Amino acid sequence: MAGRFAPSPTSALHLGNLRTALVAWLLARRTGRDLLLRIEDLDQQRVAAAPEVAAGQVADLLALGLTFDGPIVRQSQRLPRYAAAVAQLPTYECFCTRREIAEAASAPHGDGYRPYPGTCARLTASERARRRRDRPPALRVRAGGAVETVTDLLAGQMSAVVDDFVVVRNDGVPAYNLAVVVDDVAQGIDQVVRGDDLLSSSPRQAWLTRQLGGSVAQYLHVPLAVNAEGRRLAKRDQAVTLAELTTRGINAGRVLSLLAHSLGLAGPDEPVRAADLIGRFEPQQLPRAQWVAPQW
Ligand code: GLU
Repeated sequence: MAGRFAPSPTSALHLGNLRTALVAWLLARRTGRDLLLRIEDLDQQRVAAAPEVAAGQVADLLALGLTFDGPIVRQSQRLPRYAAAVAQLPTYECFCTRREIAEAASAPHGDGYRPYPGTCARLTASERARRRRDRPPALRVRAGGAVETVTDLLAGQMSAVVDDFVVVRNDGVPAYNLAVVVDDVAQGIDQVVRGDDLLSSSPRQAWLTRQLGGSVAQYLHVPLAVNAEGRRLAKRDQAVTLAELTTRGINAGRVLSLLAHSLGLAGPDEPVRAADLIGRFEPQQLPRAQWVAPQW
């Protein structure tokens, strides 16, 4: 039984990411689980700065008092596992561009994701051979219009039709939805805490989990952090990383107090340690609204 926190080393963690990490840690500790740390660096595997960014993320989590179990896993070191999983799945080559999908598909979902309309599902071998000359294919899994229901501790039950989603991108990199599920199954993850921008991915991932012989995790999607304008918090917002806050005299301890207060677990500016919060934490009582991060 384990939870996990799985950042991508694109840039330093901001307050919203740190707050989600705190929730992941509290839920795992409260429920007697290990918490594993996985660096999702498939996109960044060719970027020289990625290891330093990842090291900074780990340092920031530790500075807040969040502890992790077992070795840190890096997706870039697990490519053979993803290939082995893809080999077990019914897949087909897809040559569609984003534009073609946008033109053929129904309206995008609220999160901008367009379910795949199945254009390439029935290409003949000779059509595929011809199309391969123009463009390398992505691989999609045949989901057969399955409907999958997941249960989220905050959002409740959610059902969705699973489309034939991409499992290997057309640059050969395993797709996020594939890698995340392969790792969650391999690592025995039965509790997934992350930002609620990924809530709509969870039926797809739950379905794939079962295809790969795993059991579906308990989910908790944390409402996103936004800036004063109501836009999703991003690194470009001022003073949202631990390093930036430290230069303004706001140390990790104060950041932890701020995050704990934002989760309804501490009074304003109440000095706390992460371990103090475990006993106060009730997942059902987490705020369900987006969190407006303060600005300095
Ligand atoms: N690596 C993803 C991200 O940083 C999170 C994946 C997950 O938790 O499922 O957005």
